[in-house]
Amino acid sequence: MFLTISTTGAPERPATDLGHLLHKHPDRAQTFSTSYGTAHVLYPEASAERCTAALLLEVDAVALVRRGKGKGRGGAPDAALAQYVNDRPYAASSLLAVALSSVFSSAMKGSCRARPELPACPLPLRIEVPALPARGGADVVRALFEPLGWTVGAEPVALDTEFPEWGDSRYVSLVLEGEQRLADALRHLYVLLPVLDDAKHYWVSSDEVDKLLRAGEGWLPDHPEQKLITSRYLSRRWSLTRQAMERLELVRLAETDDSAVEEIDNAVDERTDSEEKPVPLAVLRRDAVVAALRDAGATRVLDLGCGQGQLVQALLKDTRFTEIVGMDVSMRALTVAARRLKLDRMGERQAERVRLVQGSLTYTDKRLKGYDAAVLSEVVEHLDLPRLPALEYAVFGSARPRTVIVTTPNVEYNVRWETLPAGHVRHGDHRFEWTREEFRTWAGTVAERHGYGVEFAPVGPDDPEVGPPTQMAVFTVTTENTSTVDAKEEKAA
Ligand code: SAH
Repeated sequence: MFLTISTTGAPERPATDLGHLLHKHPDRAQTFSTSYGTAHVLYPEASAERCTAALLLEVDAVALVRRGKGKGRGGAPDAALAQYVNDRPYAASSLLAVALSSVFSSAMKGSCRARPELPACPLPLRIEVPALPARGGADVVRALFEPLGWTVGAEPVALDTEFPEWGDSRYVSLVLEGEQRLADALRHLYVLLPVLDDAKHYWVSSDEVDKLLRAGEGWLPDHPEQKLITSRYLSRRWSLTRQAMERLELVRLAETDDSAVEEIDNAVDERTDSEEKPVPLAVLRRDAVVAALRDAGATRVLDLGCGQGQLVQALLKDTRFTEIVGMDVSMRALTVAARRLKLDRMGERQAERVRLVQGSLTYTDKRLKGYDAAVLSEVVEHLDLPRLPALEYAVFGSARPRTVIVTTPNVEYNVRWETLPAGHVRHGDHRFEWTREEFRTWAGTVAERHGYGVEFAPVGPDDPEVGPPTQMAVFTVTTENTSTVDAKEEKAA
């Protein structure tokens, strides 16, 4: 199993930079053992003008069978893999994808300690995979790689050159050329090689959805063949595929421009027209949330839909908050949050207090159980109303923190925004905005259904006629008994 990555140099940039990017020195051949055999990285050529790195994976077919990994879907032995003689040793498949991700893990993440500026630069790349099993043939290969900006060569490999009348095998010889960042190129291969092979060597479980979303960041949400990629990647497990597709859709929506939030929030500055410099609404909201968390005595806190991490940052400043988890569906928001918090340069003590995780609030998530409090600051209005019961169940039914703090715009106040045309919501991605009455009704029902009490508080100037710009609800558990909820979940699992 074989794959090469080549690049050419430019006057200011030698081709051998590829070695820095891959974290593998061009002068040395290196060997890594994987559970299915041995991976070698070597450079057939390495000059300032041209550099080629080759990844060769020697698959131990016997180990593959002995380890029981050669099982097909549903655990039944796969005819192709149950034998010692099969195509796995030479065909580029999920085994090669796994080897890529373990041998080149830093490169795939886009990190390069020696030359931190390199990963962001697109390079002229040429990638060759001589024997790529491709279900659907060359057309599918093109449909998958061309939308990503690759020029694709996909020549069918004859079954036997001695006997041309036998026709083509299911393999193509693949050549990709394009100006791409190396990390993107590796992530394309990591996902698309097994998609083309269409036979994973391991059992696909739900954490594959996370892997797919991580590797697909920045390209999969907009790929025209997203459905085919998702369903094949997840071995056609429909529930996982549906979940992945929904999350990709949410990512797409969440990544539509968020700047409008700030614009409108800043408009309050003009209104609270006092002598002192007015405080932006976003800051008032954060202060109100932090105060409510302190009042509740919370120390371990979830910030659900944390966006770009402003609240997480504020919480870190107060040492009473010993564990802070920010979750968001948008990888892009999380990347910005990580940068804002300087997660990679944080001291160990600080770093132990904070974690950012990707996930969707419309699915129950075991990682969210057992916290003192959860904050949903300006999040509920980003979900379609029919999805709200799913969020309600995930937060109040399953995660069940002692305290839940929800803030959302008060639509009545919109008439006070001079910059907002009548009848408009404050942000293009708001699916709805509630009146005070509507919010109270929703919150009251949720509280009752899940054994919480709820109190309301205004955030920002409380207008005698239309109320405050932001409304906040603080839920507190009254019934600890969650047996019905647990039973329901067990049944679902
Ligand atoms: N809490 C932040 C950000 C609010 S913007 C603040 O108060 O400033 C809304 C955030 O919710 C976005 O970052 C969006 O990505 C996230 N979001 C939307 N739908 C989500 C879902 N289903 N699961 C998790 N996060 C979601």
